[in-house]
Amino acid sequence: MFIPKMSTDALDEGKWYMMVVEGKTPPRRAGYCAGSCSGHGSEAEASEHFLQYQLDREVDLWLARRGERACAMCGEPTTLRARLGRNSELVVLCRRHQSTISLQTLARRRVPALAAQEA
Ligand SMILES: [Zn+2]
Ligand SMILES: [Zn+2]
Repeated sequence: MFIPKMSTDALDEGKWYMMVVEGKTPPRRAGYCAGSCSGHGSEAEASEHFLQYQLDREVDLWLARRGERACAMCGEPTTLRARLGRNSELVVLCRRHQSTISLQTLARRRVPALAAQEA
C-alpha cells in the first residue's frame, strides 16, 4: 500500500515522501522518492512524484477483459482496461483513450490538490 508520509527523521523532518507500507516491515520510500529525492513540501507533491514514477515505469495498457464497461474518460463501452502499477486498480479506457495521458488525467482528478496546483 502506498501512502505519502511526512518524515520524522532529524535530517529531513517535515519533508514528504511516498512510502510503501507492507505488513510488519517498517515503511520505506517508494518509486522516485526511494532514489535521489530530497523530499517534498507537501503531500500532493509526493503523490505527484510517485505518479510520475508509475507513468514512466509501471503502466500497463491494452489489458483485455471479458465484460464491457464504460470508459472512464468518455463513457463508451469497452472491454479494454489499463492500470498505473502492478498493485493498482484497473481503469476502464476505450481504444481511443488507451494512453498514459488518460491515466495521468484520472489520477490527478482523484487528488484535488494536484488539480488545483495545475490550474
Ligand atoms: Zn519524491
Ligand atoms: Zn474513451
